[in-house]
Amino acid sequence: MRTIKIFDTTLRDGEQSPGAAMNIGEKLQIAKQLARLGVDIIEAGFAISSPGDFEAIKTISSEVEGPVICSLARAKESDIKRSWEAIQDAPKRRIHTFHSTSEIHLKYQFRIDQAEALKRSVEMVKLARSYVEDVEFSPMDATRTELGYLCEVIEAVIEAGASTVNIPDTVGYSIPSEFGSVIKSIHDRVKNINKAVISVHCHNDLGLSTSNSLAAVLNGAGQIECTINGIGERAGNCSMEEVVMALRTRSDLFNADTNIVTEEIMRSSKLVTKITGMSVQPNKAIVGANAFSHESGIHQDGLLKDKSTYEIITPETIGLHKTKFVLGKLSGRHAFRTRLIELGYELGDEELNHAFDRFKKLADQKKEIFDEDLESLVSEEFTTVPEKYSLVDLSVSSGINREPAAMLKIKIDEKIIEKTENGDGPIDAIFRAITSITGTKSKLLKYEVKAITGGTDAQGEVVCSLEKGDRSVSGHGADTDIIIASAKAYINALNKLAAGKR
Ligand SMILES: [Zn+2]
Repeated sequence: MRTIKIFDTTLRDGEQSPGAAMNIGEKLQIAKQLARLGVDIIEAGFAISSPGDFEAIKTISSEVEGPVICSLARAKESDIKRSWEAIQDAPKRRIHTFHSTSEIHLKYQFRIDQAEALKRSVEMVKLARSYVEDVEFSPMDATRTELGYLCEVIEAVIEAGASTVNIPDTVGYSIPSEFGSVIKSIHDRVKNINKAVISVHCHNDLGLSTSNSLAAVLNGAGQIECTINGIGERAGNCSMEEVVMALRTRSDLFNADTNIVTEEIMRSSKLVTKITGMSVQPNKAIVGANAFSHESGIHQDGLLKDKSTYEIITPETIGLHKTKFVLGKLSGRHAFRTRLIELGYELGDEELNHAFDRFKKLADQKKEIFDEDLESLVSEEFTTVPEKYSLVDLSVSSGINREPAAMLKIKIDEKIIEKTENGDGPIDAIFRAITSITGTKSKLLKYEVKAITGGTDAQGEVVCSLEKGDRSVSGHGADTDIIIASAKAYINALNKLAAGKR
């Protein structure tokens, strides 16, 4: 049985999804979860792209144990040097450098010939090797590159010291039989291929990223690049949960498996949804809300007699358990801390005290506190941003034949300002009051309300995505009152914008 390496790029390619920008605290929280999930490599960012990316990679390198930490770098000296500076504190580290190889890219984007592209690729792999042992090279737009030249580049970069060669279907153009045969050709034609791992990076423009990645495994690939929930540029990347569960469920066919702790899949999915504000469609394979619900009477009958009749994966395998009441008003600090540790969260004393105060307030409003409530509460603890603006008070009035109005008091740098505004509805009135008090101008890209658990006393969780200039951020707010949650989410997004460029 072969072990296929899982290279997670949620923090790099995933972050390129519109509106999915994350701050350092959020990236660190995801990286820690990826380590619990058992991914082999975390691509933590693109070091030279921004100071925020650089800091995030550096923080993850020194605080996350287990996986190899990787930074992306163009085939340029400055990029490779910056990547090294970002990852140097990681016990296991990798530089991932790339250069286009397709004729379309070389001719129109780079205006260089094939020989020059090959020379640059080899030189930069050598430079990366002077910093680290573990170097990955990607010939960008590989699936539209002439095969003979592609093999020549791969052989040369392996000779120069690359130990992973990644074949990206950059524009999501390939189909499984074709992509499989590209991998097979590389496997058969590149003389020194046994000195490197073949990796694949598939995009989902035609809905084929998982299928293409699996076809590659059947033809000799040993690493898959993917993201949680399949987020990423355009239609996204190969979904970690899909490819991992396909390999696990059909290991008889693939004769391969991964190191993933599948029981952590659901939690990873929810965390990424929460932080990026990108929801998963209900019918999504593995992690969609309906993935394990059987509606057909015939199926239900079979399941009652024996689970294996219609269930190919048990919900427990991916860490999905029935929501259950865990804590309440009378639960003490010890029970609170113990449950958090069971859920995989270890807070420092100060964070724990703060989270416990908020837990007590929530328990006053809502008699049963579920794991989902705790996760929401704790992740806010991890992802705090400096609060330029904070909500002090709010009241709204709305109804039939009445113009909706909202009164808000917001503290801005120690000064409390109060205003009342009208709007098309109470939420519109609140948002108008917030922008009027803070004097901010940003565009609302998305407003979404969800219930964290069932029941009419459930907490509402609101995501507000705001855009200002070339930046977009997602703010979150949770409260048993969705009106208050909405105001909190909008203000959280403004605080993120105010906190400056990532
Ligand atoms: Zn990509």
